[in-house]
Amino acid sequence: MAQCDVCGNEYDKAFRVTQGSKSMTFDSFECAIHAMAPQCAHCNCKVVGHGIEAQGKIYCCAHCARKSGAQGVSDRAA
Ligand SMILES: [Zn+2]
Ligand SMILES: [Zn+2]
Repeated sequence: MAQCDVCGNEYDKAFRVTQGSKSMTFDSFECAIHAMAPQCAHCNCKVVGHGIEAQGKIYCCAHCARKSGAQGVSDRAA
């Protein structure tokens, strides 16, 4: 059985996630998000969806990107 790298739980349905050169084992997506999801540069929440990349930083939404000074980003079509 594999062991989760975050909480230590041993689980027969654990899975591995590879991100660049880093590979980790998790028992749940909750743990995978905790360890691997990027953080919004404005509000610090975990970016679980696509998020927005602006000026080399990752934001959870256009609102946060704009609050941090990014130009020309929006959540919805005009
Ligand atoms: Zn876990
Ligand atoms: Zn945010």
